Amino acid sequence: MTKSKTEPDDERTRIERYDPGAIEARWQATWANLGLYDTDLRDTSKPKYYLLTMYPYPSGDLHIGHWYIVTPSDALARYRRMHGYNVFFPIGFDAFGLPAENAAIKNGGHPFTWTMSNIENMRRQFRTMGATFAWDAEVVTADPEYYRWNQWLFLKFMEQGLAYRAKSPVDWCPNDGTLAREQVEGTERRCWRCGALVEKRDLDQWYLRTTAYADELLDFTGLDWPEPVKIMQTNWIGRSEGAEIDFKTAPDDHQAGGDTLRVFTTRPDTLFGATFMVLAPEHPLVATLTHPNHRAEVDAYIEQARRRTEIERLSTDREKTGVALGADAINPVNGARIPVYIADYVLSGYGTGAIMAVPAHDERDFAFATKFGLPIRRVVAEPGVEPDAPMGDAFVAHASDERLVNSGRFDGLSVDEGGKAIVADLALTGRAEPKVTYRLRDWLVSRQRYWGTPIPVVYCEVDGIVPVPFEDLPVRLPETVDYKGSGDNPLNHDEAFRSTTCPRCHGPARRETDTMDTFMDSSWYWFRYLSPERMDGPVDRAMTDRWTPVDQYTGGAEHAVMHLMYSRFFTKAMADVGLVRDREPFIRLFNQGQILGADGERMSKSRGNVQDPDELVERYGADTVRLYLMFMGPWDQGGPWSPSGIDGPHRFLNRVWTLILDGTGREPGDPDAGALPAGQSEADAARAIRAAAHKTLRDVTADYEAFRFNTMIAKLMELANTLFRYRGTVAAGTPAWDEATGLLLLMLAPAAPHVTEELWKRRLAASGVEWSSIHTQAWPELDVSATTETTREIPVQVNGKLRDKVIVAADASAQDIETAVLARDRIREILDGRTPDRIIVAGGGKLINLVIR
Ligand SMILES: [Zn+2]
Ligand SMILES: [Zn+2]
Repeated sequence: MTKSKTEPDDERTRIERYDPGAIEARWQATWANLGLYDTDLRDTSKPKYYLLTMYPYPSGDLHIGHWYIVTPSDALARYRRMHGYNVFFPIGFDAFGLPAENAAIKNGGHPFTWTMSNIENMRRQFRTMGATFAWDAEVVTADPEYYRWNQWLFLKFMEQGLAYRAKSPVDWCPNDGTLAREQVEGTERRCWRCGALVEKRDLDQWYLRTTAYADELLDFTGLDWPEPVKIMQTNWIGRSEGAEIDFKTAPDDHQAGGDTLRVFTTRPDTLFGATFMVLAPEHPLVATLTHPNHRAEVDAYIEQARRRTEIERLSTDREKTGVALGADAINPVNGARIPVYIADYVLSGYGTGAIMAVPAHDERDFAFATKFGLPIRRVVAEPGVEPDAPMGDAFVAHASDERLVNSGRFDGLSVDEGGKAIVADLALTGRAEPKVTYRLRDWLVSRQRYWGTPIPVVYCEVDGIVPVPFEDLPVRLPETVDYKGSGDNPLNHDEAFRSTTCPRCHGPARRETDTMDTFMDSSWYWFRYLSPERMDGPVDRAMTDRWTPVDQYTGGAEHAVMHLMYSRFFTKAMADVGLVRDREPFIRLFNQGQILGADGERMSKSRGNVQDPDELVERYGADTVRLYLMFMGPWDQGGPWSPSGIDGPHRFLNRVWTLILDGTGREPGDPDAGALPAGQSEADAARAIRAAAHKTLRDVTADYEAFRFNTMIAKLMELANTLFRYRGTVAAGTPAWDEATGLLLLMLAPAAPHVTEELWKRRLAASGVEWSSIHTQAWPELDVSATTETTREIPVQVNGKLRDKVIVAADASAQDIETAVLARDRIREILDGRTPDRIIVAGGGKLINLVIR
């Protein structure tokens, strides 16, 4: 470590050097022995504060990213305790999942062994951080005593119809098997885990009925969540209001007509502008409708569409293709015959597989109509626009002053009124129905993996799907696992696991070999923290009523439409089953940013830019690492690791160490030693010290509340600098000095818990007071009267050159300032008996300039 200039040389220092290695482990052990952070969940004498940080995946080592996530949360936990809250700050491990299996496949061994040894290492590392986790509440999701409750909840949900099995086209990754829709990323449809292109397969799978809560999930009332997360969830749920409208096929020489073509539209107001229809090539009526003269062309097109991936079909920049079937449909609103096309951008798996095309008011339909020479009929116009004015492009705007045109008796209505009136009119004859649709689909939870919670059902030839009785839970994973052979789920080949007896008829039965998506484990873990040992149910209702919802949740925004949405779904479903009271899990959510490598890239072993926290703790101590991570920038923004940035916080802690242990000390050779800053009396100095300390207290309190950890630390650094100016002066012996240095320690304690505890102890010992931990002290009270400015400092120039500074009363007049300046030794020396020609007090007293010829 390089020695900083501000840090005194060892030889000259009369105090012991700051050595984090000598104090941190000792305090961690003391706190653990005292049970300082054990939370008594039954204690109702204080208000509760449930602080939750997303539990980590036991990947092996804590990397600096884990520290970045945890240390500000830990500071917040300590801060809230000082405010008199009964704080619950638990931790656990999200222990099922793929990396453990990959390690087992690669290196042999069992995923359990790999996972548990990683957890052990991470527990140790969390302790070196000084994190105040309530370890007695820890949960490990791969523990049968945890996952049995996943199974229990699954069975409860089955009873309520919230868990079900169905065959449908599912998203399938060639490496990971089935995926939830939320785990398919981007328009390219890639696997969230491995990046492979995701295919569609028809499979029997288990689902949780998230769609039952679609509307409720759109309601964020009472939640203090970042706007982007709410927007992502809202968009993902994708509620759109519209109508289903039935078109009939028109009779023709090759077919009788009268078949129904159902479409969904969010713009029923534009129905008079529907001048053609487009079906998916897979639509069941295509064969019937196709005119013999069009057969060859239609068949060729269908064949071509079959070879295209969904991605290609949905790609927005591709030119739209399509062919006419040689048949018409009848627009139900005006009886017009309109031609029917097939085009591959309409997909059969979505909606009804048919759309009504309104080229005047939809860009894609406009392009299609232009290409095929189809009529474009305007049915919505802004004020002053001629109803039949030619259109160079689709008009898609939707403002309140637009009116329907070319729409018969609906002309003149607004877009909203007109849409409703048209649907109501058609509904009279059963040809339309108002309809709300959602983008959200039920959550596919089956995974073809060993290392997850077994889905607790059996298949019996007589009884079909039979749930495992509650009293037989847990369905345990077999202890041995054989990854040899195909990449298939090893449970499929484990006869001892697969073969069982039917709980109903006691005949032979086969166990479900799919396991649950690990996101099920994380959808309710914070409830379990409150009663990790409980044997008669997943949660302790009295405890969850007292402690949930979680007051503050911190974690990454990348979980917006997975974990954070599934958790809301689970909470609502658990409330409906009567297990918990509240319908929302987390009142306040904060998304921290991501810490990157020094090269600005995501930290990864392969890039070699990973920062090892153990090494940093060894070199600088945990307190410095904690401070640096909080100091490096706003917590919600993250940013690149700076190898040199850590020196500043380290110097700061050294400075605090010196201030507290050697406040009256003087550095030999310091010319100002012992002198108060310019023009201050001892009383002025004491007032200035108190003002600085209480202003800092005011600002630091606000910063903690708003999670502005970086500015909080900057302000503490400033206070330390101010105090350092008074070190070795008479002011260092005043009660104001003692108060200010005490405040500095108390304010710094949540962020740098070890060094402040050590200094606190030594201070108490020096004044003969018995030690009680700094972390059990109350947050200091602000003295507002002390924060009002009593003095100010004014730079003094002579002939435009800065030569001195003077401190005057805050309300000093120009005359007072002049007098104070002329009384300064330094200035008298420069004047050498002369009188200045002019004295200019500039900027309302911000600067003073003496002019001498
Ligand atoms: Zn994959
Ligand atoms: Zn049976």
